[in-house]
Amino acid sequence: MTTKVETDVAIIGAGPVGLFAVFELGLLDLKAHLVDILDRPGGQCTELYPEKPIYDIPGLPIVTGQELTDKLMEQIKPFSPTFHLSQMASSLHRESDGRWRLTTDTGTEIVAPVLIIAAGGGSFVPKRPPIAGIEAYEGKSVHYAVRKMDSFKDKDILIAGGGDSALDWTINLAPIARSLTLVHHRDGFRAAQHSVNKMRELVEEGKVKFHVASVKELHGTDGQLEAVTLAGADKKEWTHGCNAFLPFFGLTIKLGPIAEFGLNLHENLIQVDTARFESETPGIFAVGDINTYPGKLKLILCGFHEAALAAQAAFHICRPNEKLRFQYTTSSSSLQKKLGVA
Ligand SMILES: Cc1cc2nc3c(=O)[nH]c(=O)nc-3n(C[C@H](O)[C@H](O)[C@H](O)COP(=O)(O)OP(=O)(O)OC[C@H]3O[C@@H](n4cnc5c(N)ncnc54)[C@H](O)[C@@H]3O)c2cc1C
Repeated sequence: MTTKVETDVAIIGAGPVGLFAVFELGLLDLKAHLVDILDRPGGQCTELYPEKPIYDIPGLPIVTGQELTDKLMEQIKPFSPTFHLSQMASSLHRESDGRWRLTTDTGTEIVAPVLIIAAGGGSFVPKRPPIAGIEAYEGKSVHYAVRKMDSFKDKDILIAGGGDSALDWTINLAPIARSLTLVHHRDGFRAAQHSVNKMRELVEEGKVKFHVASVKELHGTDGQLEAVTLAGADKKEWTHGCNAFLPFFGLTIKLGPIAEFGLNLHENLIQVDTARFESETPGIFAVGDINTYPGKLKLILCGFHEAALAAQAAFHICRPNEKLRFQYTTSSSSLQKKLGVA
């Protein structure tokens, strides 16, 4: 189903820099829609190091990746950005009126005069487990992400993995599944302790089955899974009936469809000028880890600066007939009103 929205700025990437861009745009009364392939905001901070402390965010001597994301989400709340999560920004076209039309893989179309690419190292793509013929089942009965929980209702689900995603989805899908089995190659997990405890509780209550095992083969027809062959730690094999398989074996980062947007790339990075952080294509900006310029540092604080300047330049494109007045949040009552503090 296609959802078409019009806005001032479309942002690819809800990492820390994409989120802060919403703030800088909001101060200038520019509305933003963000697209991220992940199911939650935070980019690398929440996906790769949610509990690690960061020590070089100005004014925050110590903050974890998750805490920084939570604070950014709180900071942008007054501007009510729209998030299109679990969606890949997959194609870009120029409309006859000069605006950009960004389309996602689930059919969302965002039309805006400005596109800000805050895509970091690219999109997080799930690692495919080494099981022969798995491609034939992907998107039908093998899924690397849960986009709609409802589509797993009353299914016999098999989840493989030992990290946060495997455990979170075991806990969340167990109540709606007909049966749910978790397999991992050892009886130890890399997930938050409270999730491990909860999963073990569900196993004790008989609501989830857990096996130390790995998936060797898939059996089914026309992409519809009927069973898998599991192998235990002792190499003994058995057949396990299931009609949905969710392998959570981690993520890798790939630039993905942005490489096809016709931008001037240098080693998979978007070249920008340092006055506006605009690419060589007018109306398309790049901020954060995805851009390159002389002296570039892949630091969150540099991305924040880039977002502030890109927002100012975006204003002139979105509001060509309006003047931009430089204002401080400390002293401008109009900015304070926008922030809901005046
Ligand atoms: C272990 C580790 C420790 C770090 N420590 C520090 C530190 O101490 N201090 C510091 O300043 N920096 C640190 N960094 C670097 C910092 O995390 C990055 O500079 C920062 O995350 C860049 O932010 P970003 O918003 O540009 O991109 P990201 O955080 O990478 O976010 C980009 C987002 O874009 C999404 N995306 C990309 N392409 C698409 C697409 N086509 N469709 C939909 N979504 C898409 C991705 O899914 C992702 O969520 C660290 C990095 C790592 C890995």
